[in-house]
Amino acid sequence: MLALNPDQSLSFSQPGVVAKYIGRIGWGLFAEVDFAPGDCLCQLSLDGFADCEIIPWANSFGVYFDRSFTVVPGYAWCASPTHPFWYINHSCAANSGFVNWGQTIHGQMPVVAYQRIARGEQITMDYALFTASYDGDPTGGPWRMNGCLCHSDQCRGVITGFHALPLDLRLEAVMPQSELQGCVPAHMVMEMPGLIRLLRQLSPGLYRSYLEALNEQIALSKALCRVISQKAQPIPAYPFQAAGTAALWTNSGL
Ligand SMILES: [Zn+2]
Repeated sequence: MLALNPDQSLSFSQPGVVAKYIGRIGWGLFAEVDFAPGDCLCQLSLDGFADCEIIPWANSFGVYFDRSFTVVPGYAWCASPTHPFWYINHSCAANSGFVNWGQTIHGQMPVVAYQRIARGEQITMDYALFTASYDGDPTGGPWRMNGCLCHSDQCRGVITGFHALPLDLRLEAVMPQSELQGCVPAHMVMEMPGLIRLLRQLSPGLYRSYLEALNEQIALSKALCRVISQKAQPIPAYPFQAAGTAALWTNSGL
């Protein structure tokens, strides 16, 4: 385990960001350079595991809890303290996050600036936008974080998974008023048939990009199942699973 000294800042193999100790809430990730909207801040590797791990979802609790999330169906991506993602704090008005439904580029899932981020500014993500309904505990209970400290005007107080956000916030996350769209991994939307219907009606082009990303994530899940020795255990059933998920898994062109 990396020894973290609060008097030091921490640099990474991925340039442009640095971790700093910020007192009561611990560490945070900060910009070392100016970033424009759409710039990549750091990347999550899905095909090489130097500073991260990908493990079966059922193993993503215990020591992995609060430092992992379900990246593709059945598998969790876990940061290590040598990866910048480890230090990104939550904000209800986050200035960065995933885009394009979490699609990878050359095996890397980018965390992207949602707005201009000036050198020295803290980099934040909205944890709800990459937390699935079953990421709370090994039985599939919902995750929540009480007493948010982001102090933004939009602070929700209690942070939940994406499924528990009001519809307007879920729509804003998948169709924000900017060029950066699909801020939620596609597989998390799969459990929300109402949102999928709205997406299909409101933006057929964005719906197609959702399906493309979903297909990629299902393919990645199947590939991981072949390379990770312990077979993935299925994620717990949720209401939509019986009606729709099985069809999507076997007929992912839907
Ligand atoms: Zn907040």
